[in-house]
Amino acid sequence: MRSQALQMTPEVRKRLLRSRVEAETLQERELRCPGCGFRLQTIYSREQ
Ligand SMILES: [Zn+2]
Repeated sequence: MRSQALQMTPEVRKRLLRSRVEAETLQERELRCPGCGFRLQTIYSREQ
């Protein structure tokens, strides 16, 4: 039997995508100017 560590099964892809989305939404928040959308600051938070 071969190791499946490197296989990109649909399940694995789903996981990667999900963790990536969570990282973007939960850990990194961008503070943008409401007027022009310029990124003023990037906030890293682990609280919720
Ligand atoms: Zn602005």
